[in-house]
Amino acid sequence: MSKGKSMDAEIGVIGGSGFYSMIKKPVIMHDNNSYGEPSEGIAIGSLGNRKTAFLARHSKNHTIPPHKVNYRANIEALSSLGVKRIIATNAVGSLREDYVPGDILFFDQFVNMTNGRNDTFFDEDCVVHVSSADPYCEQLRRIGSSVAKRMGIRYHDSGTVVVVNGPRFSTKAESKYYKANGFDVINMTQYPEVILAREKQICYLGIGIVTDYDAGIEGREDVDKVTTKDIEESFAKSMASVKELVTGIIKELPEKRSCSCGSALENAVLTKKQK
Ligand SMILES: [Zn+2]
Repeated sequence: MSKGKSMDAEIGVIGGSGFYSMIKKPVIMHDNNSYGEPSEGIAIGSLGNRKTAFLARHSKNHTIPPHKVNYRANIEALSSLGVKRIIATNAVGSLREDYVPGDILFFDQFVNMTNGRNDTFFDEDCVVHVSSADPYCEQLRRIGSSVAKRMGIRYHDSGTVVVVNGPRFSTKAESKYYKANGFDVINMTQYPEVILAREKQICYLGIGIVTDYDAGIEGREDVDKVTTKDIEESFAKSMASVKELVTGIIKELPEKRSCSCGSALENAVLTKKQK
């Protein structure tokens, strides 16, 4: 499909397939790119009166597990549409008693514990060391928090997400280790999605939706083991407020970016390969 005027978007939303129905009059783009096939056709249309592109991270029918998502193809696809800001929703397990199921949080840090994932666009002709000190967009995080506050939902304006490879859940010992390190929540998809967006100089807001407690939070005997069914049920319950939150954030976005995400490569250490 060739790219016409209808095939561009300023905002990208990545999340569960529930968002498809929210995009008004969508055009679906099915293009592959040089990194392969995105998880699903991208729905481009209006959300919160802004041109938005939506992508279901695990495909429409949730058939792609976290370790098999083609993160590079997904971010490349959004970038090629002209997306400058991504709002991404993610199910997370809580590692703290005070982050309860149903809570929303806006990540400000991640710890990567995944392996074997393609996590850079710069592995061919040049070496780029992009800064990851503050991987999440500060401007988007501030807007997200203010919208959540106005909605009156339970939220946390920061949090460290530890990203594990999956698809299996944690052992009790792993869970105890993550908690002891001060990580707040656990997830399988934030890495490398957020850092690939940074390499494309796209602002990225990571919204965590607490669906359960991670396996055996220490000291809580009433906490049951995590099952996929628990997560799906809890996530579905939170979806209505998450949709309202995402739409509210999009409506609040100023045209101009006041953050440094758009100049991430200007400040990166870059070495071109000698030919
Ligand atoms: Zn930004």
